[in-house]
Amino acid sequence: MSWQNRTKIVATLGPASNTDRGVADLIRVGVDVFRINCAHADHDTIADTIKRVRRLAKLQNRAIGILADLQGPKIRVGKLKDAEPIYLKRGMDVVIDCTPGVVGHARADGSVVIGTGYERLAKDVTKGERILLDDGNLELKTLRVDGPRIQARVVYGGMLIQFKGINLPGTEVSASCLSKKDLEDLGCVLAHGVDFVALSFVRRASDVVELRKHIQKRKGDAQVIAKIERPEAVKNLAEVLDAADALMVARGDMGVEMGPAAVPQVQKRIIEMANAARKPVITATQMLESMIVNPRPTRAEASDVANAIYDGTSAVMLSGETASGKHPVRTVVTMEKIVRSAERDVYTHMGARRRLGGKVLTPSEATVRAAAHAAFNTRASLIVCYTETGSTALQLAGERPPTHIVSFTPSQRTMQKLALVWGVLARKIKPGATSRQLTLDGDRILRVEGLAKAGDRIVQIAGTVRQAGLTNTMTIRTI
Ligand code: PEP
Repeated sequence: MSWQNRTKIVATLGPASNTDRGVADLIRVGVDVFRINCAHADHDTIADTIKRVRRLAKLQNRAIGILADLQGPKIRVGKLKDAEPIYLKRGMDVVIDCTPGVVGHARADGSVVIGTGYERLAKDVTKGERILLDDGNLELKTLRVDGPRIQARVVYGGMLIQFKGINLPGTEVSASCLSKKDLEDLGCVLAHGVDFVALSFVRRASDVVELRKHIQKRKGDAQVIAKIERPEAVKNLAEVLDAADALMVARGDMGVEMGPAAVPQVQKRIIEMANAARKPVITATQMLESMIVNPRPTRAEASDVANAIYDGTSAVMLSGETASGKHPVRTVVTMEKIVRSAERDVYTHMGARRRLGGKVLTPSEATVRAAAHAAFNTRASLIVCYTETGSTALQLAGERPPTHIVSFTPSQRTMQKLALVWGVLARKIKPGATSRQLTLDGDRILRVEGLAKAGDRIVQIAGTVRQAGLTNTMTIRTI
């Protein structure tokens, strides 16, 4: 089989890529899952996108997943007049008006008004608190709150684009995990048969459970991906992981909520826990960010993608790079190359050596190692081996399993040699005509000598052909 990348690529669709040609090209260069960010798409666009992906995936005979990313209790800047970005300058006055329907605009007196879909924002913030916009790139300080209006001043300025995120680090946002918009979006994406629904700003397992109930109520079968970005979700990671089908390391908001320095270790922890629970985990955001404008990634970005693979991520995700960047196809090609290169190292050499042991094993050595692991992992009471020369027992002892080893052999000489071998209890057995006969005789000896009793689990290894040193089968069974 030729090399196949193991790590999957998730690409977000948007104006830069959401055309027949764009989607077909992205599938061709290696996208496995398309993400639709519901915060930025209306229902007609969502429906058209899903139909397009299904049609083009079929043409290329590929099973492509579709992930609908619900906004969740994510607070966003509302519409800006004519969708024109507004430049916020340090020291400028900004009014966040939480009244529904407010469209952001610059005022004649030099101040700026912005709206938000989250009406309770003015109730959640208090004087002096920081308000971060656009993944923390822009910062406001709250001066006072007048009813639904927050009066604030720009501390760090920059270009404000409509629908960018608003974060209140350290503030418990009172919004429920699914807004009216989320439920409407959910109805739309389920009706069109998406495979995954991701929930932003998950705080606890009940947020995931609530989404799952809504999916079931609508007779949907989409899997639930919990986006980990809030400190509460990190604190409640075990229960959130248990409730969800998969996790996303949503590093954008995580970096704003918890500070960029926390992101690397939280990423490693989330990936490790998801791997242990055998659930997929997506590493997301700013993976190849500079390729939104540049044709090449920074070396730090290449290392970031590779490091996520060294961490054991199941998938890597592109957001703005493919949704609104200048080089969506080139970005996926670049990501695929980095993935391939890292995987050739992780899964063929270094990582495999780390995880599975150093050298190439013979079939006997591999069987013995598997038996030592299986015995420990199933908490078996014994490992039983049948050996002519004692070499299988020696190999087994070399694994230093915590499980006792009983070695059956027809040879008195071998029994004596095994007297010196770590952990091995040698017992003589009649040379059996068949392996079934050996097993029956062996079990009888174990029971008579009190080494095992009926109901005990044992791991047994043997060879299917009578050849010294060839042990090639393992059985886990109950006496
Ligand atoms: C993130 O915050 O990293 C993320 C993936 O969510 P969104 O793109 O919705 O901000």
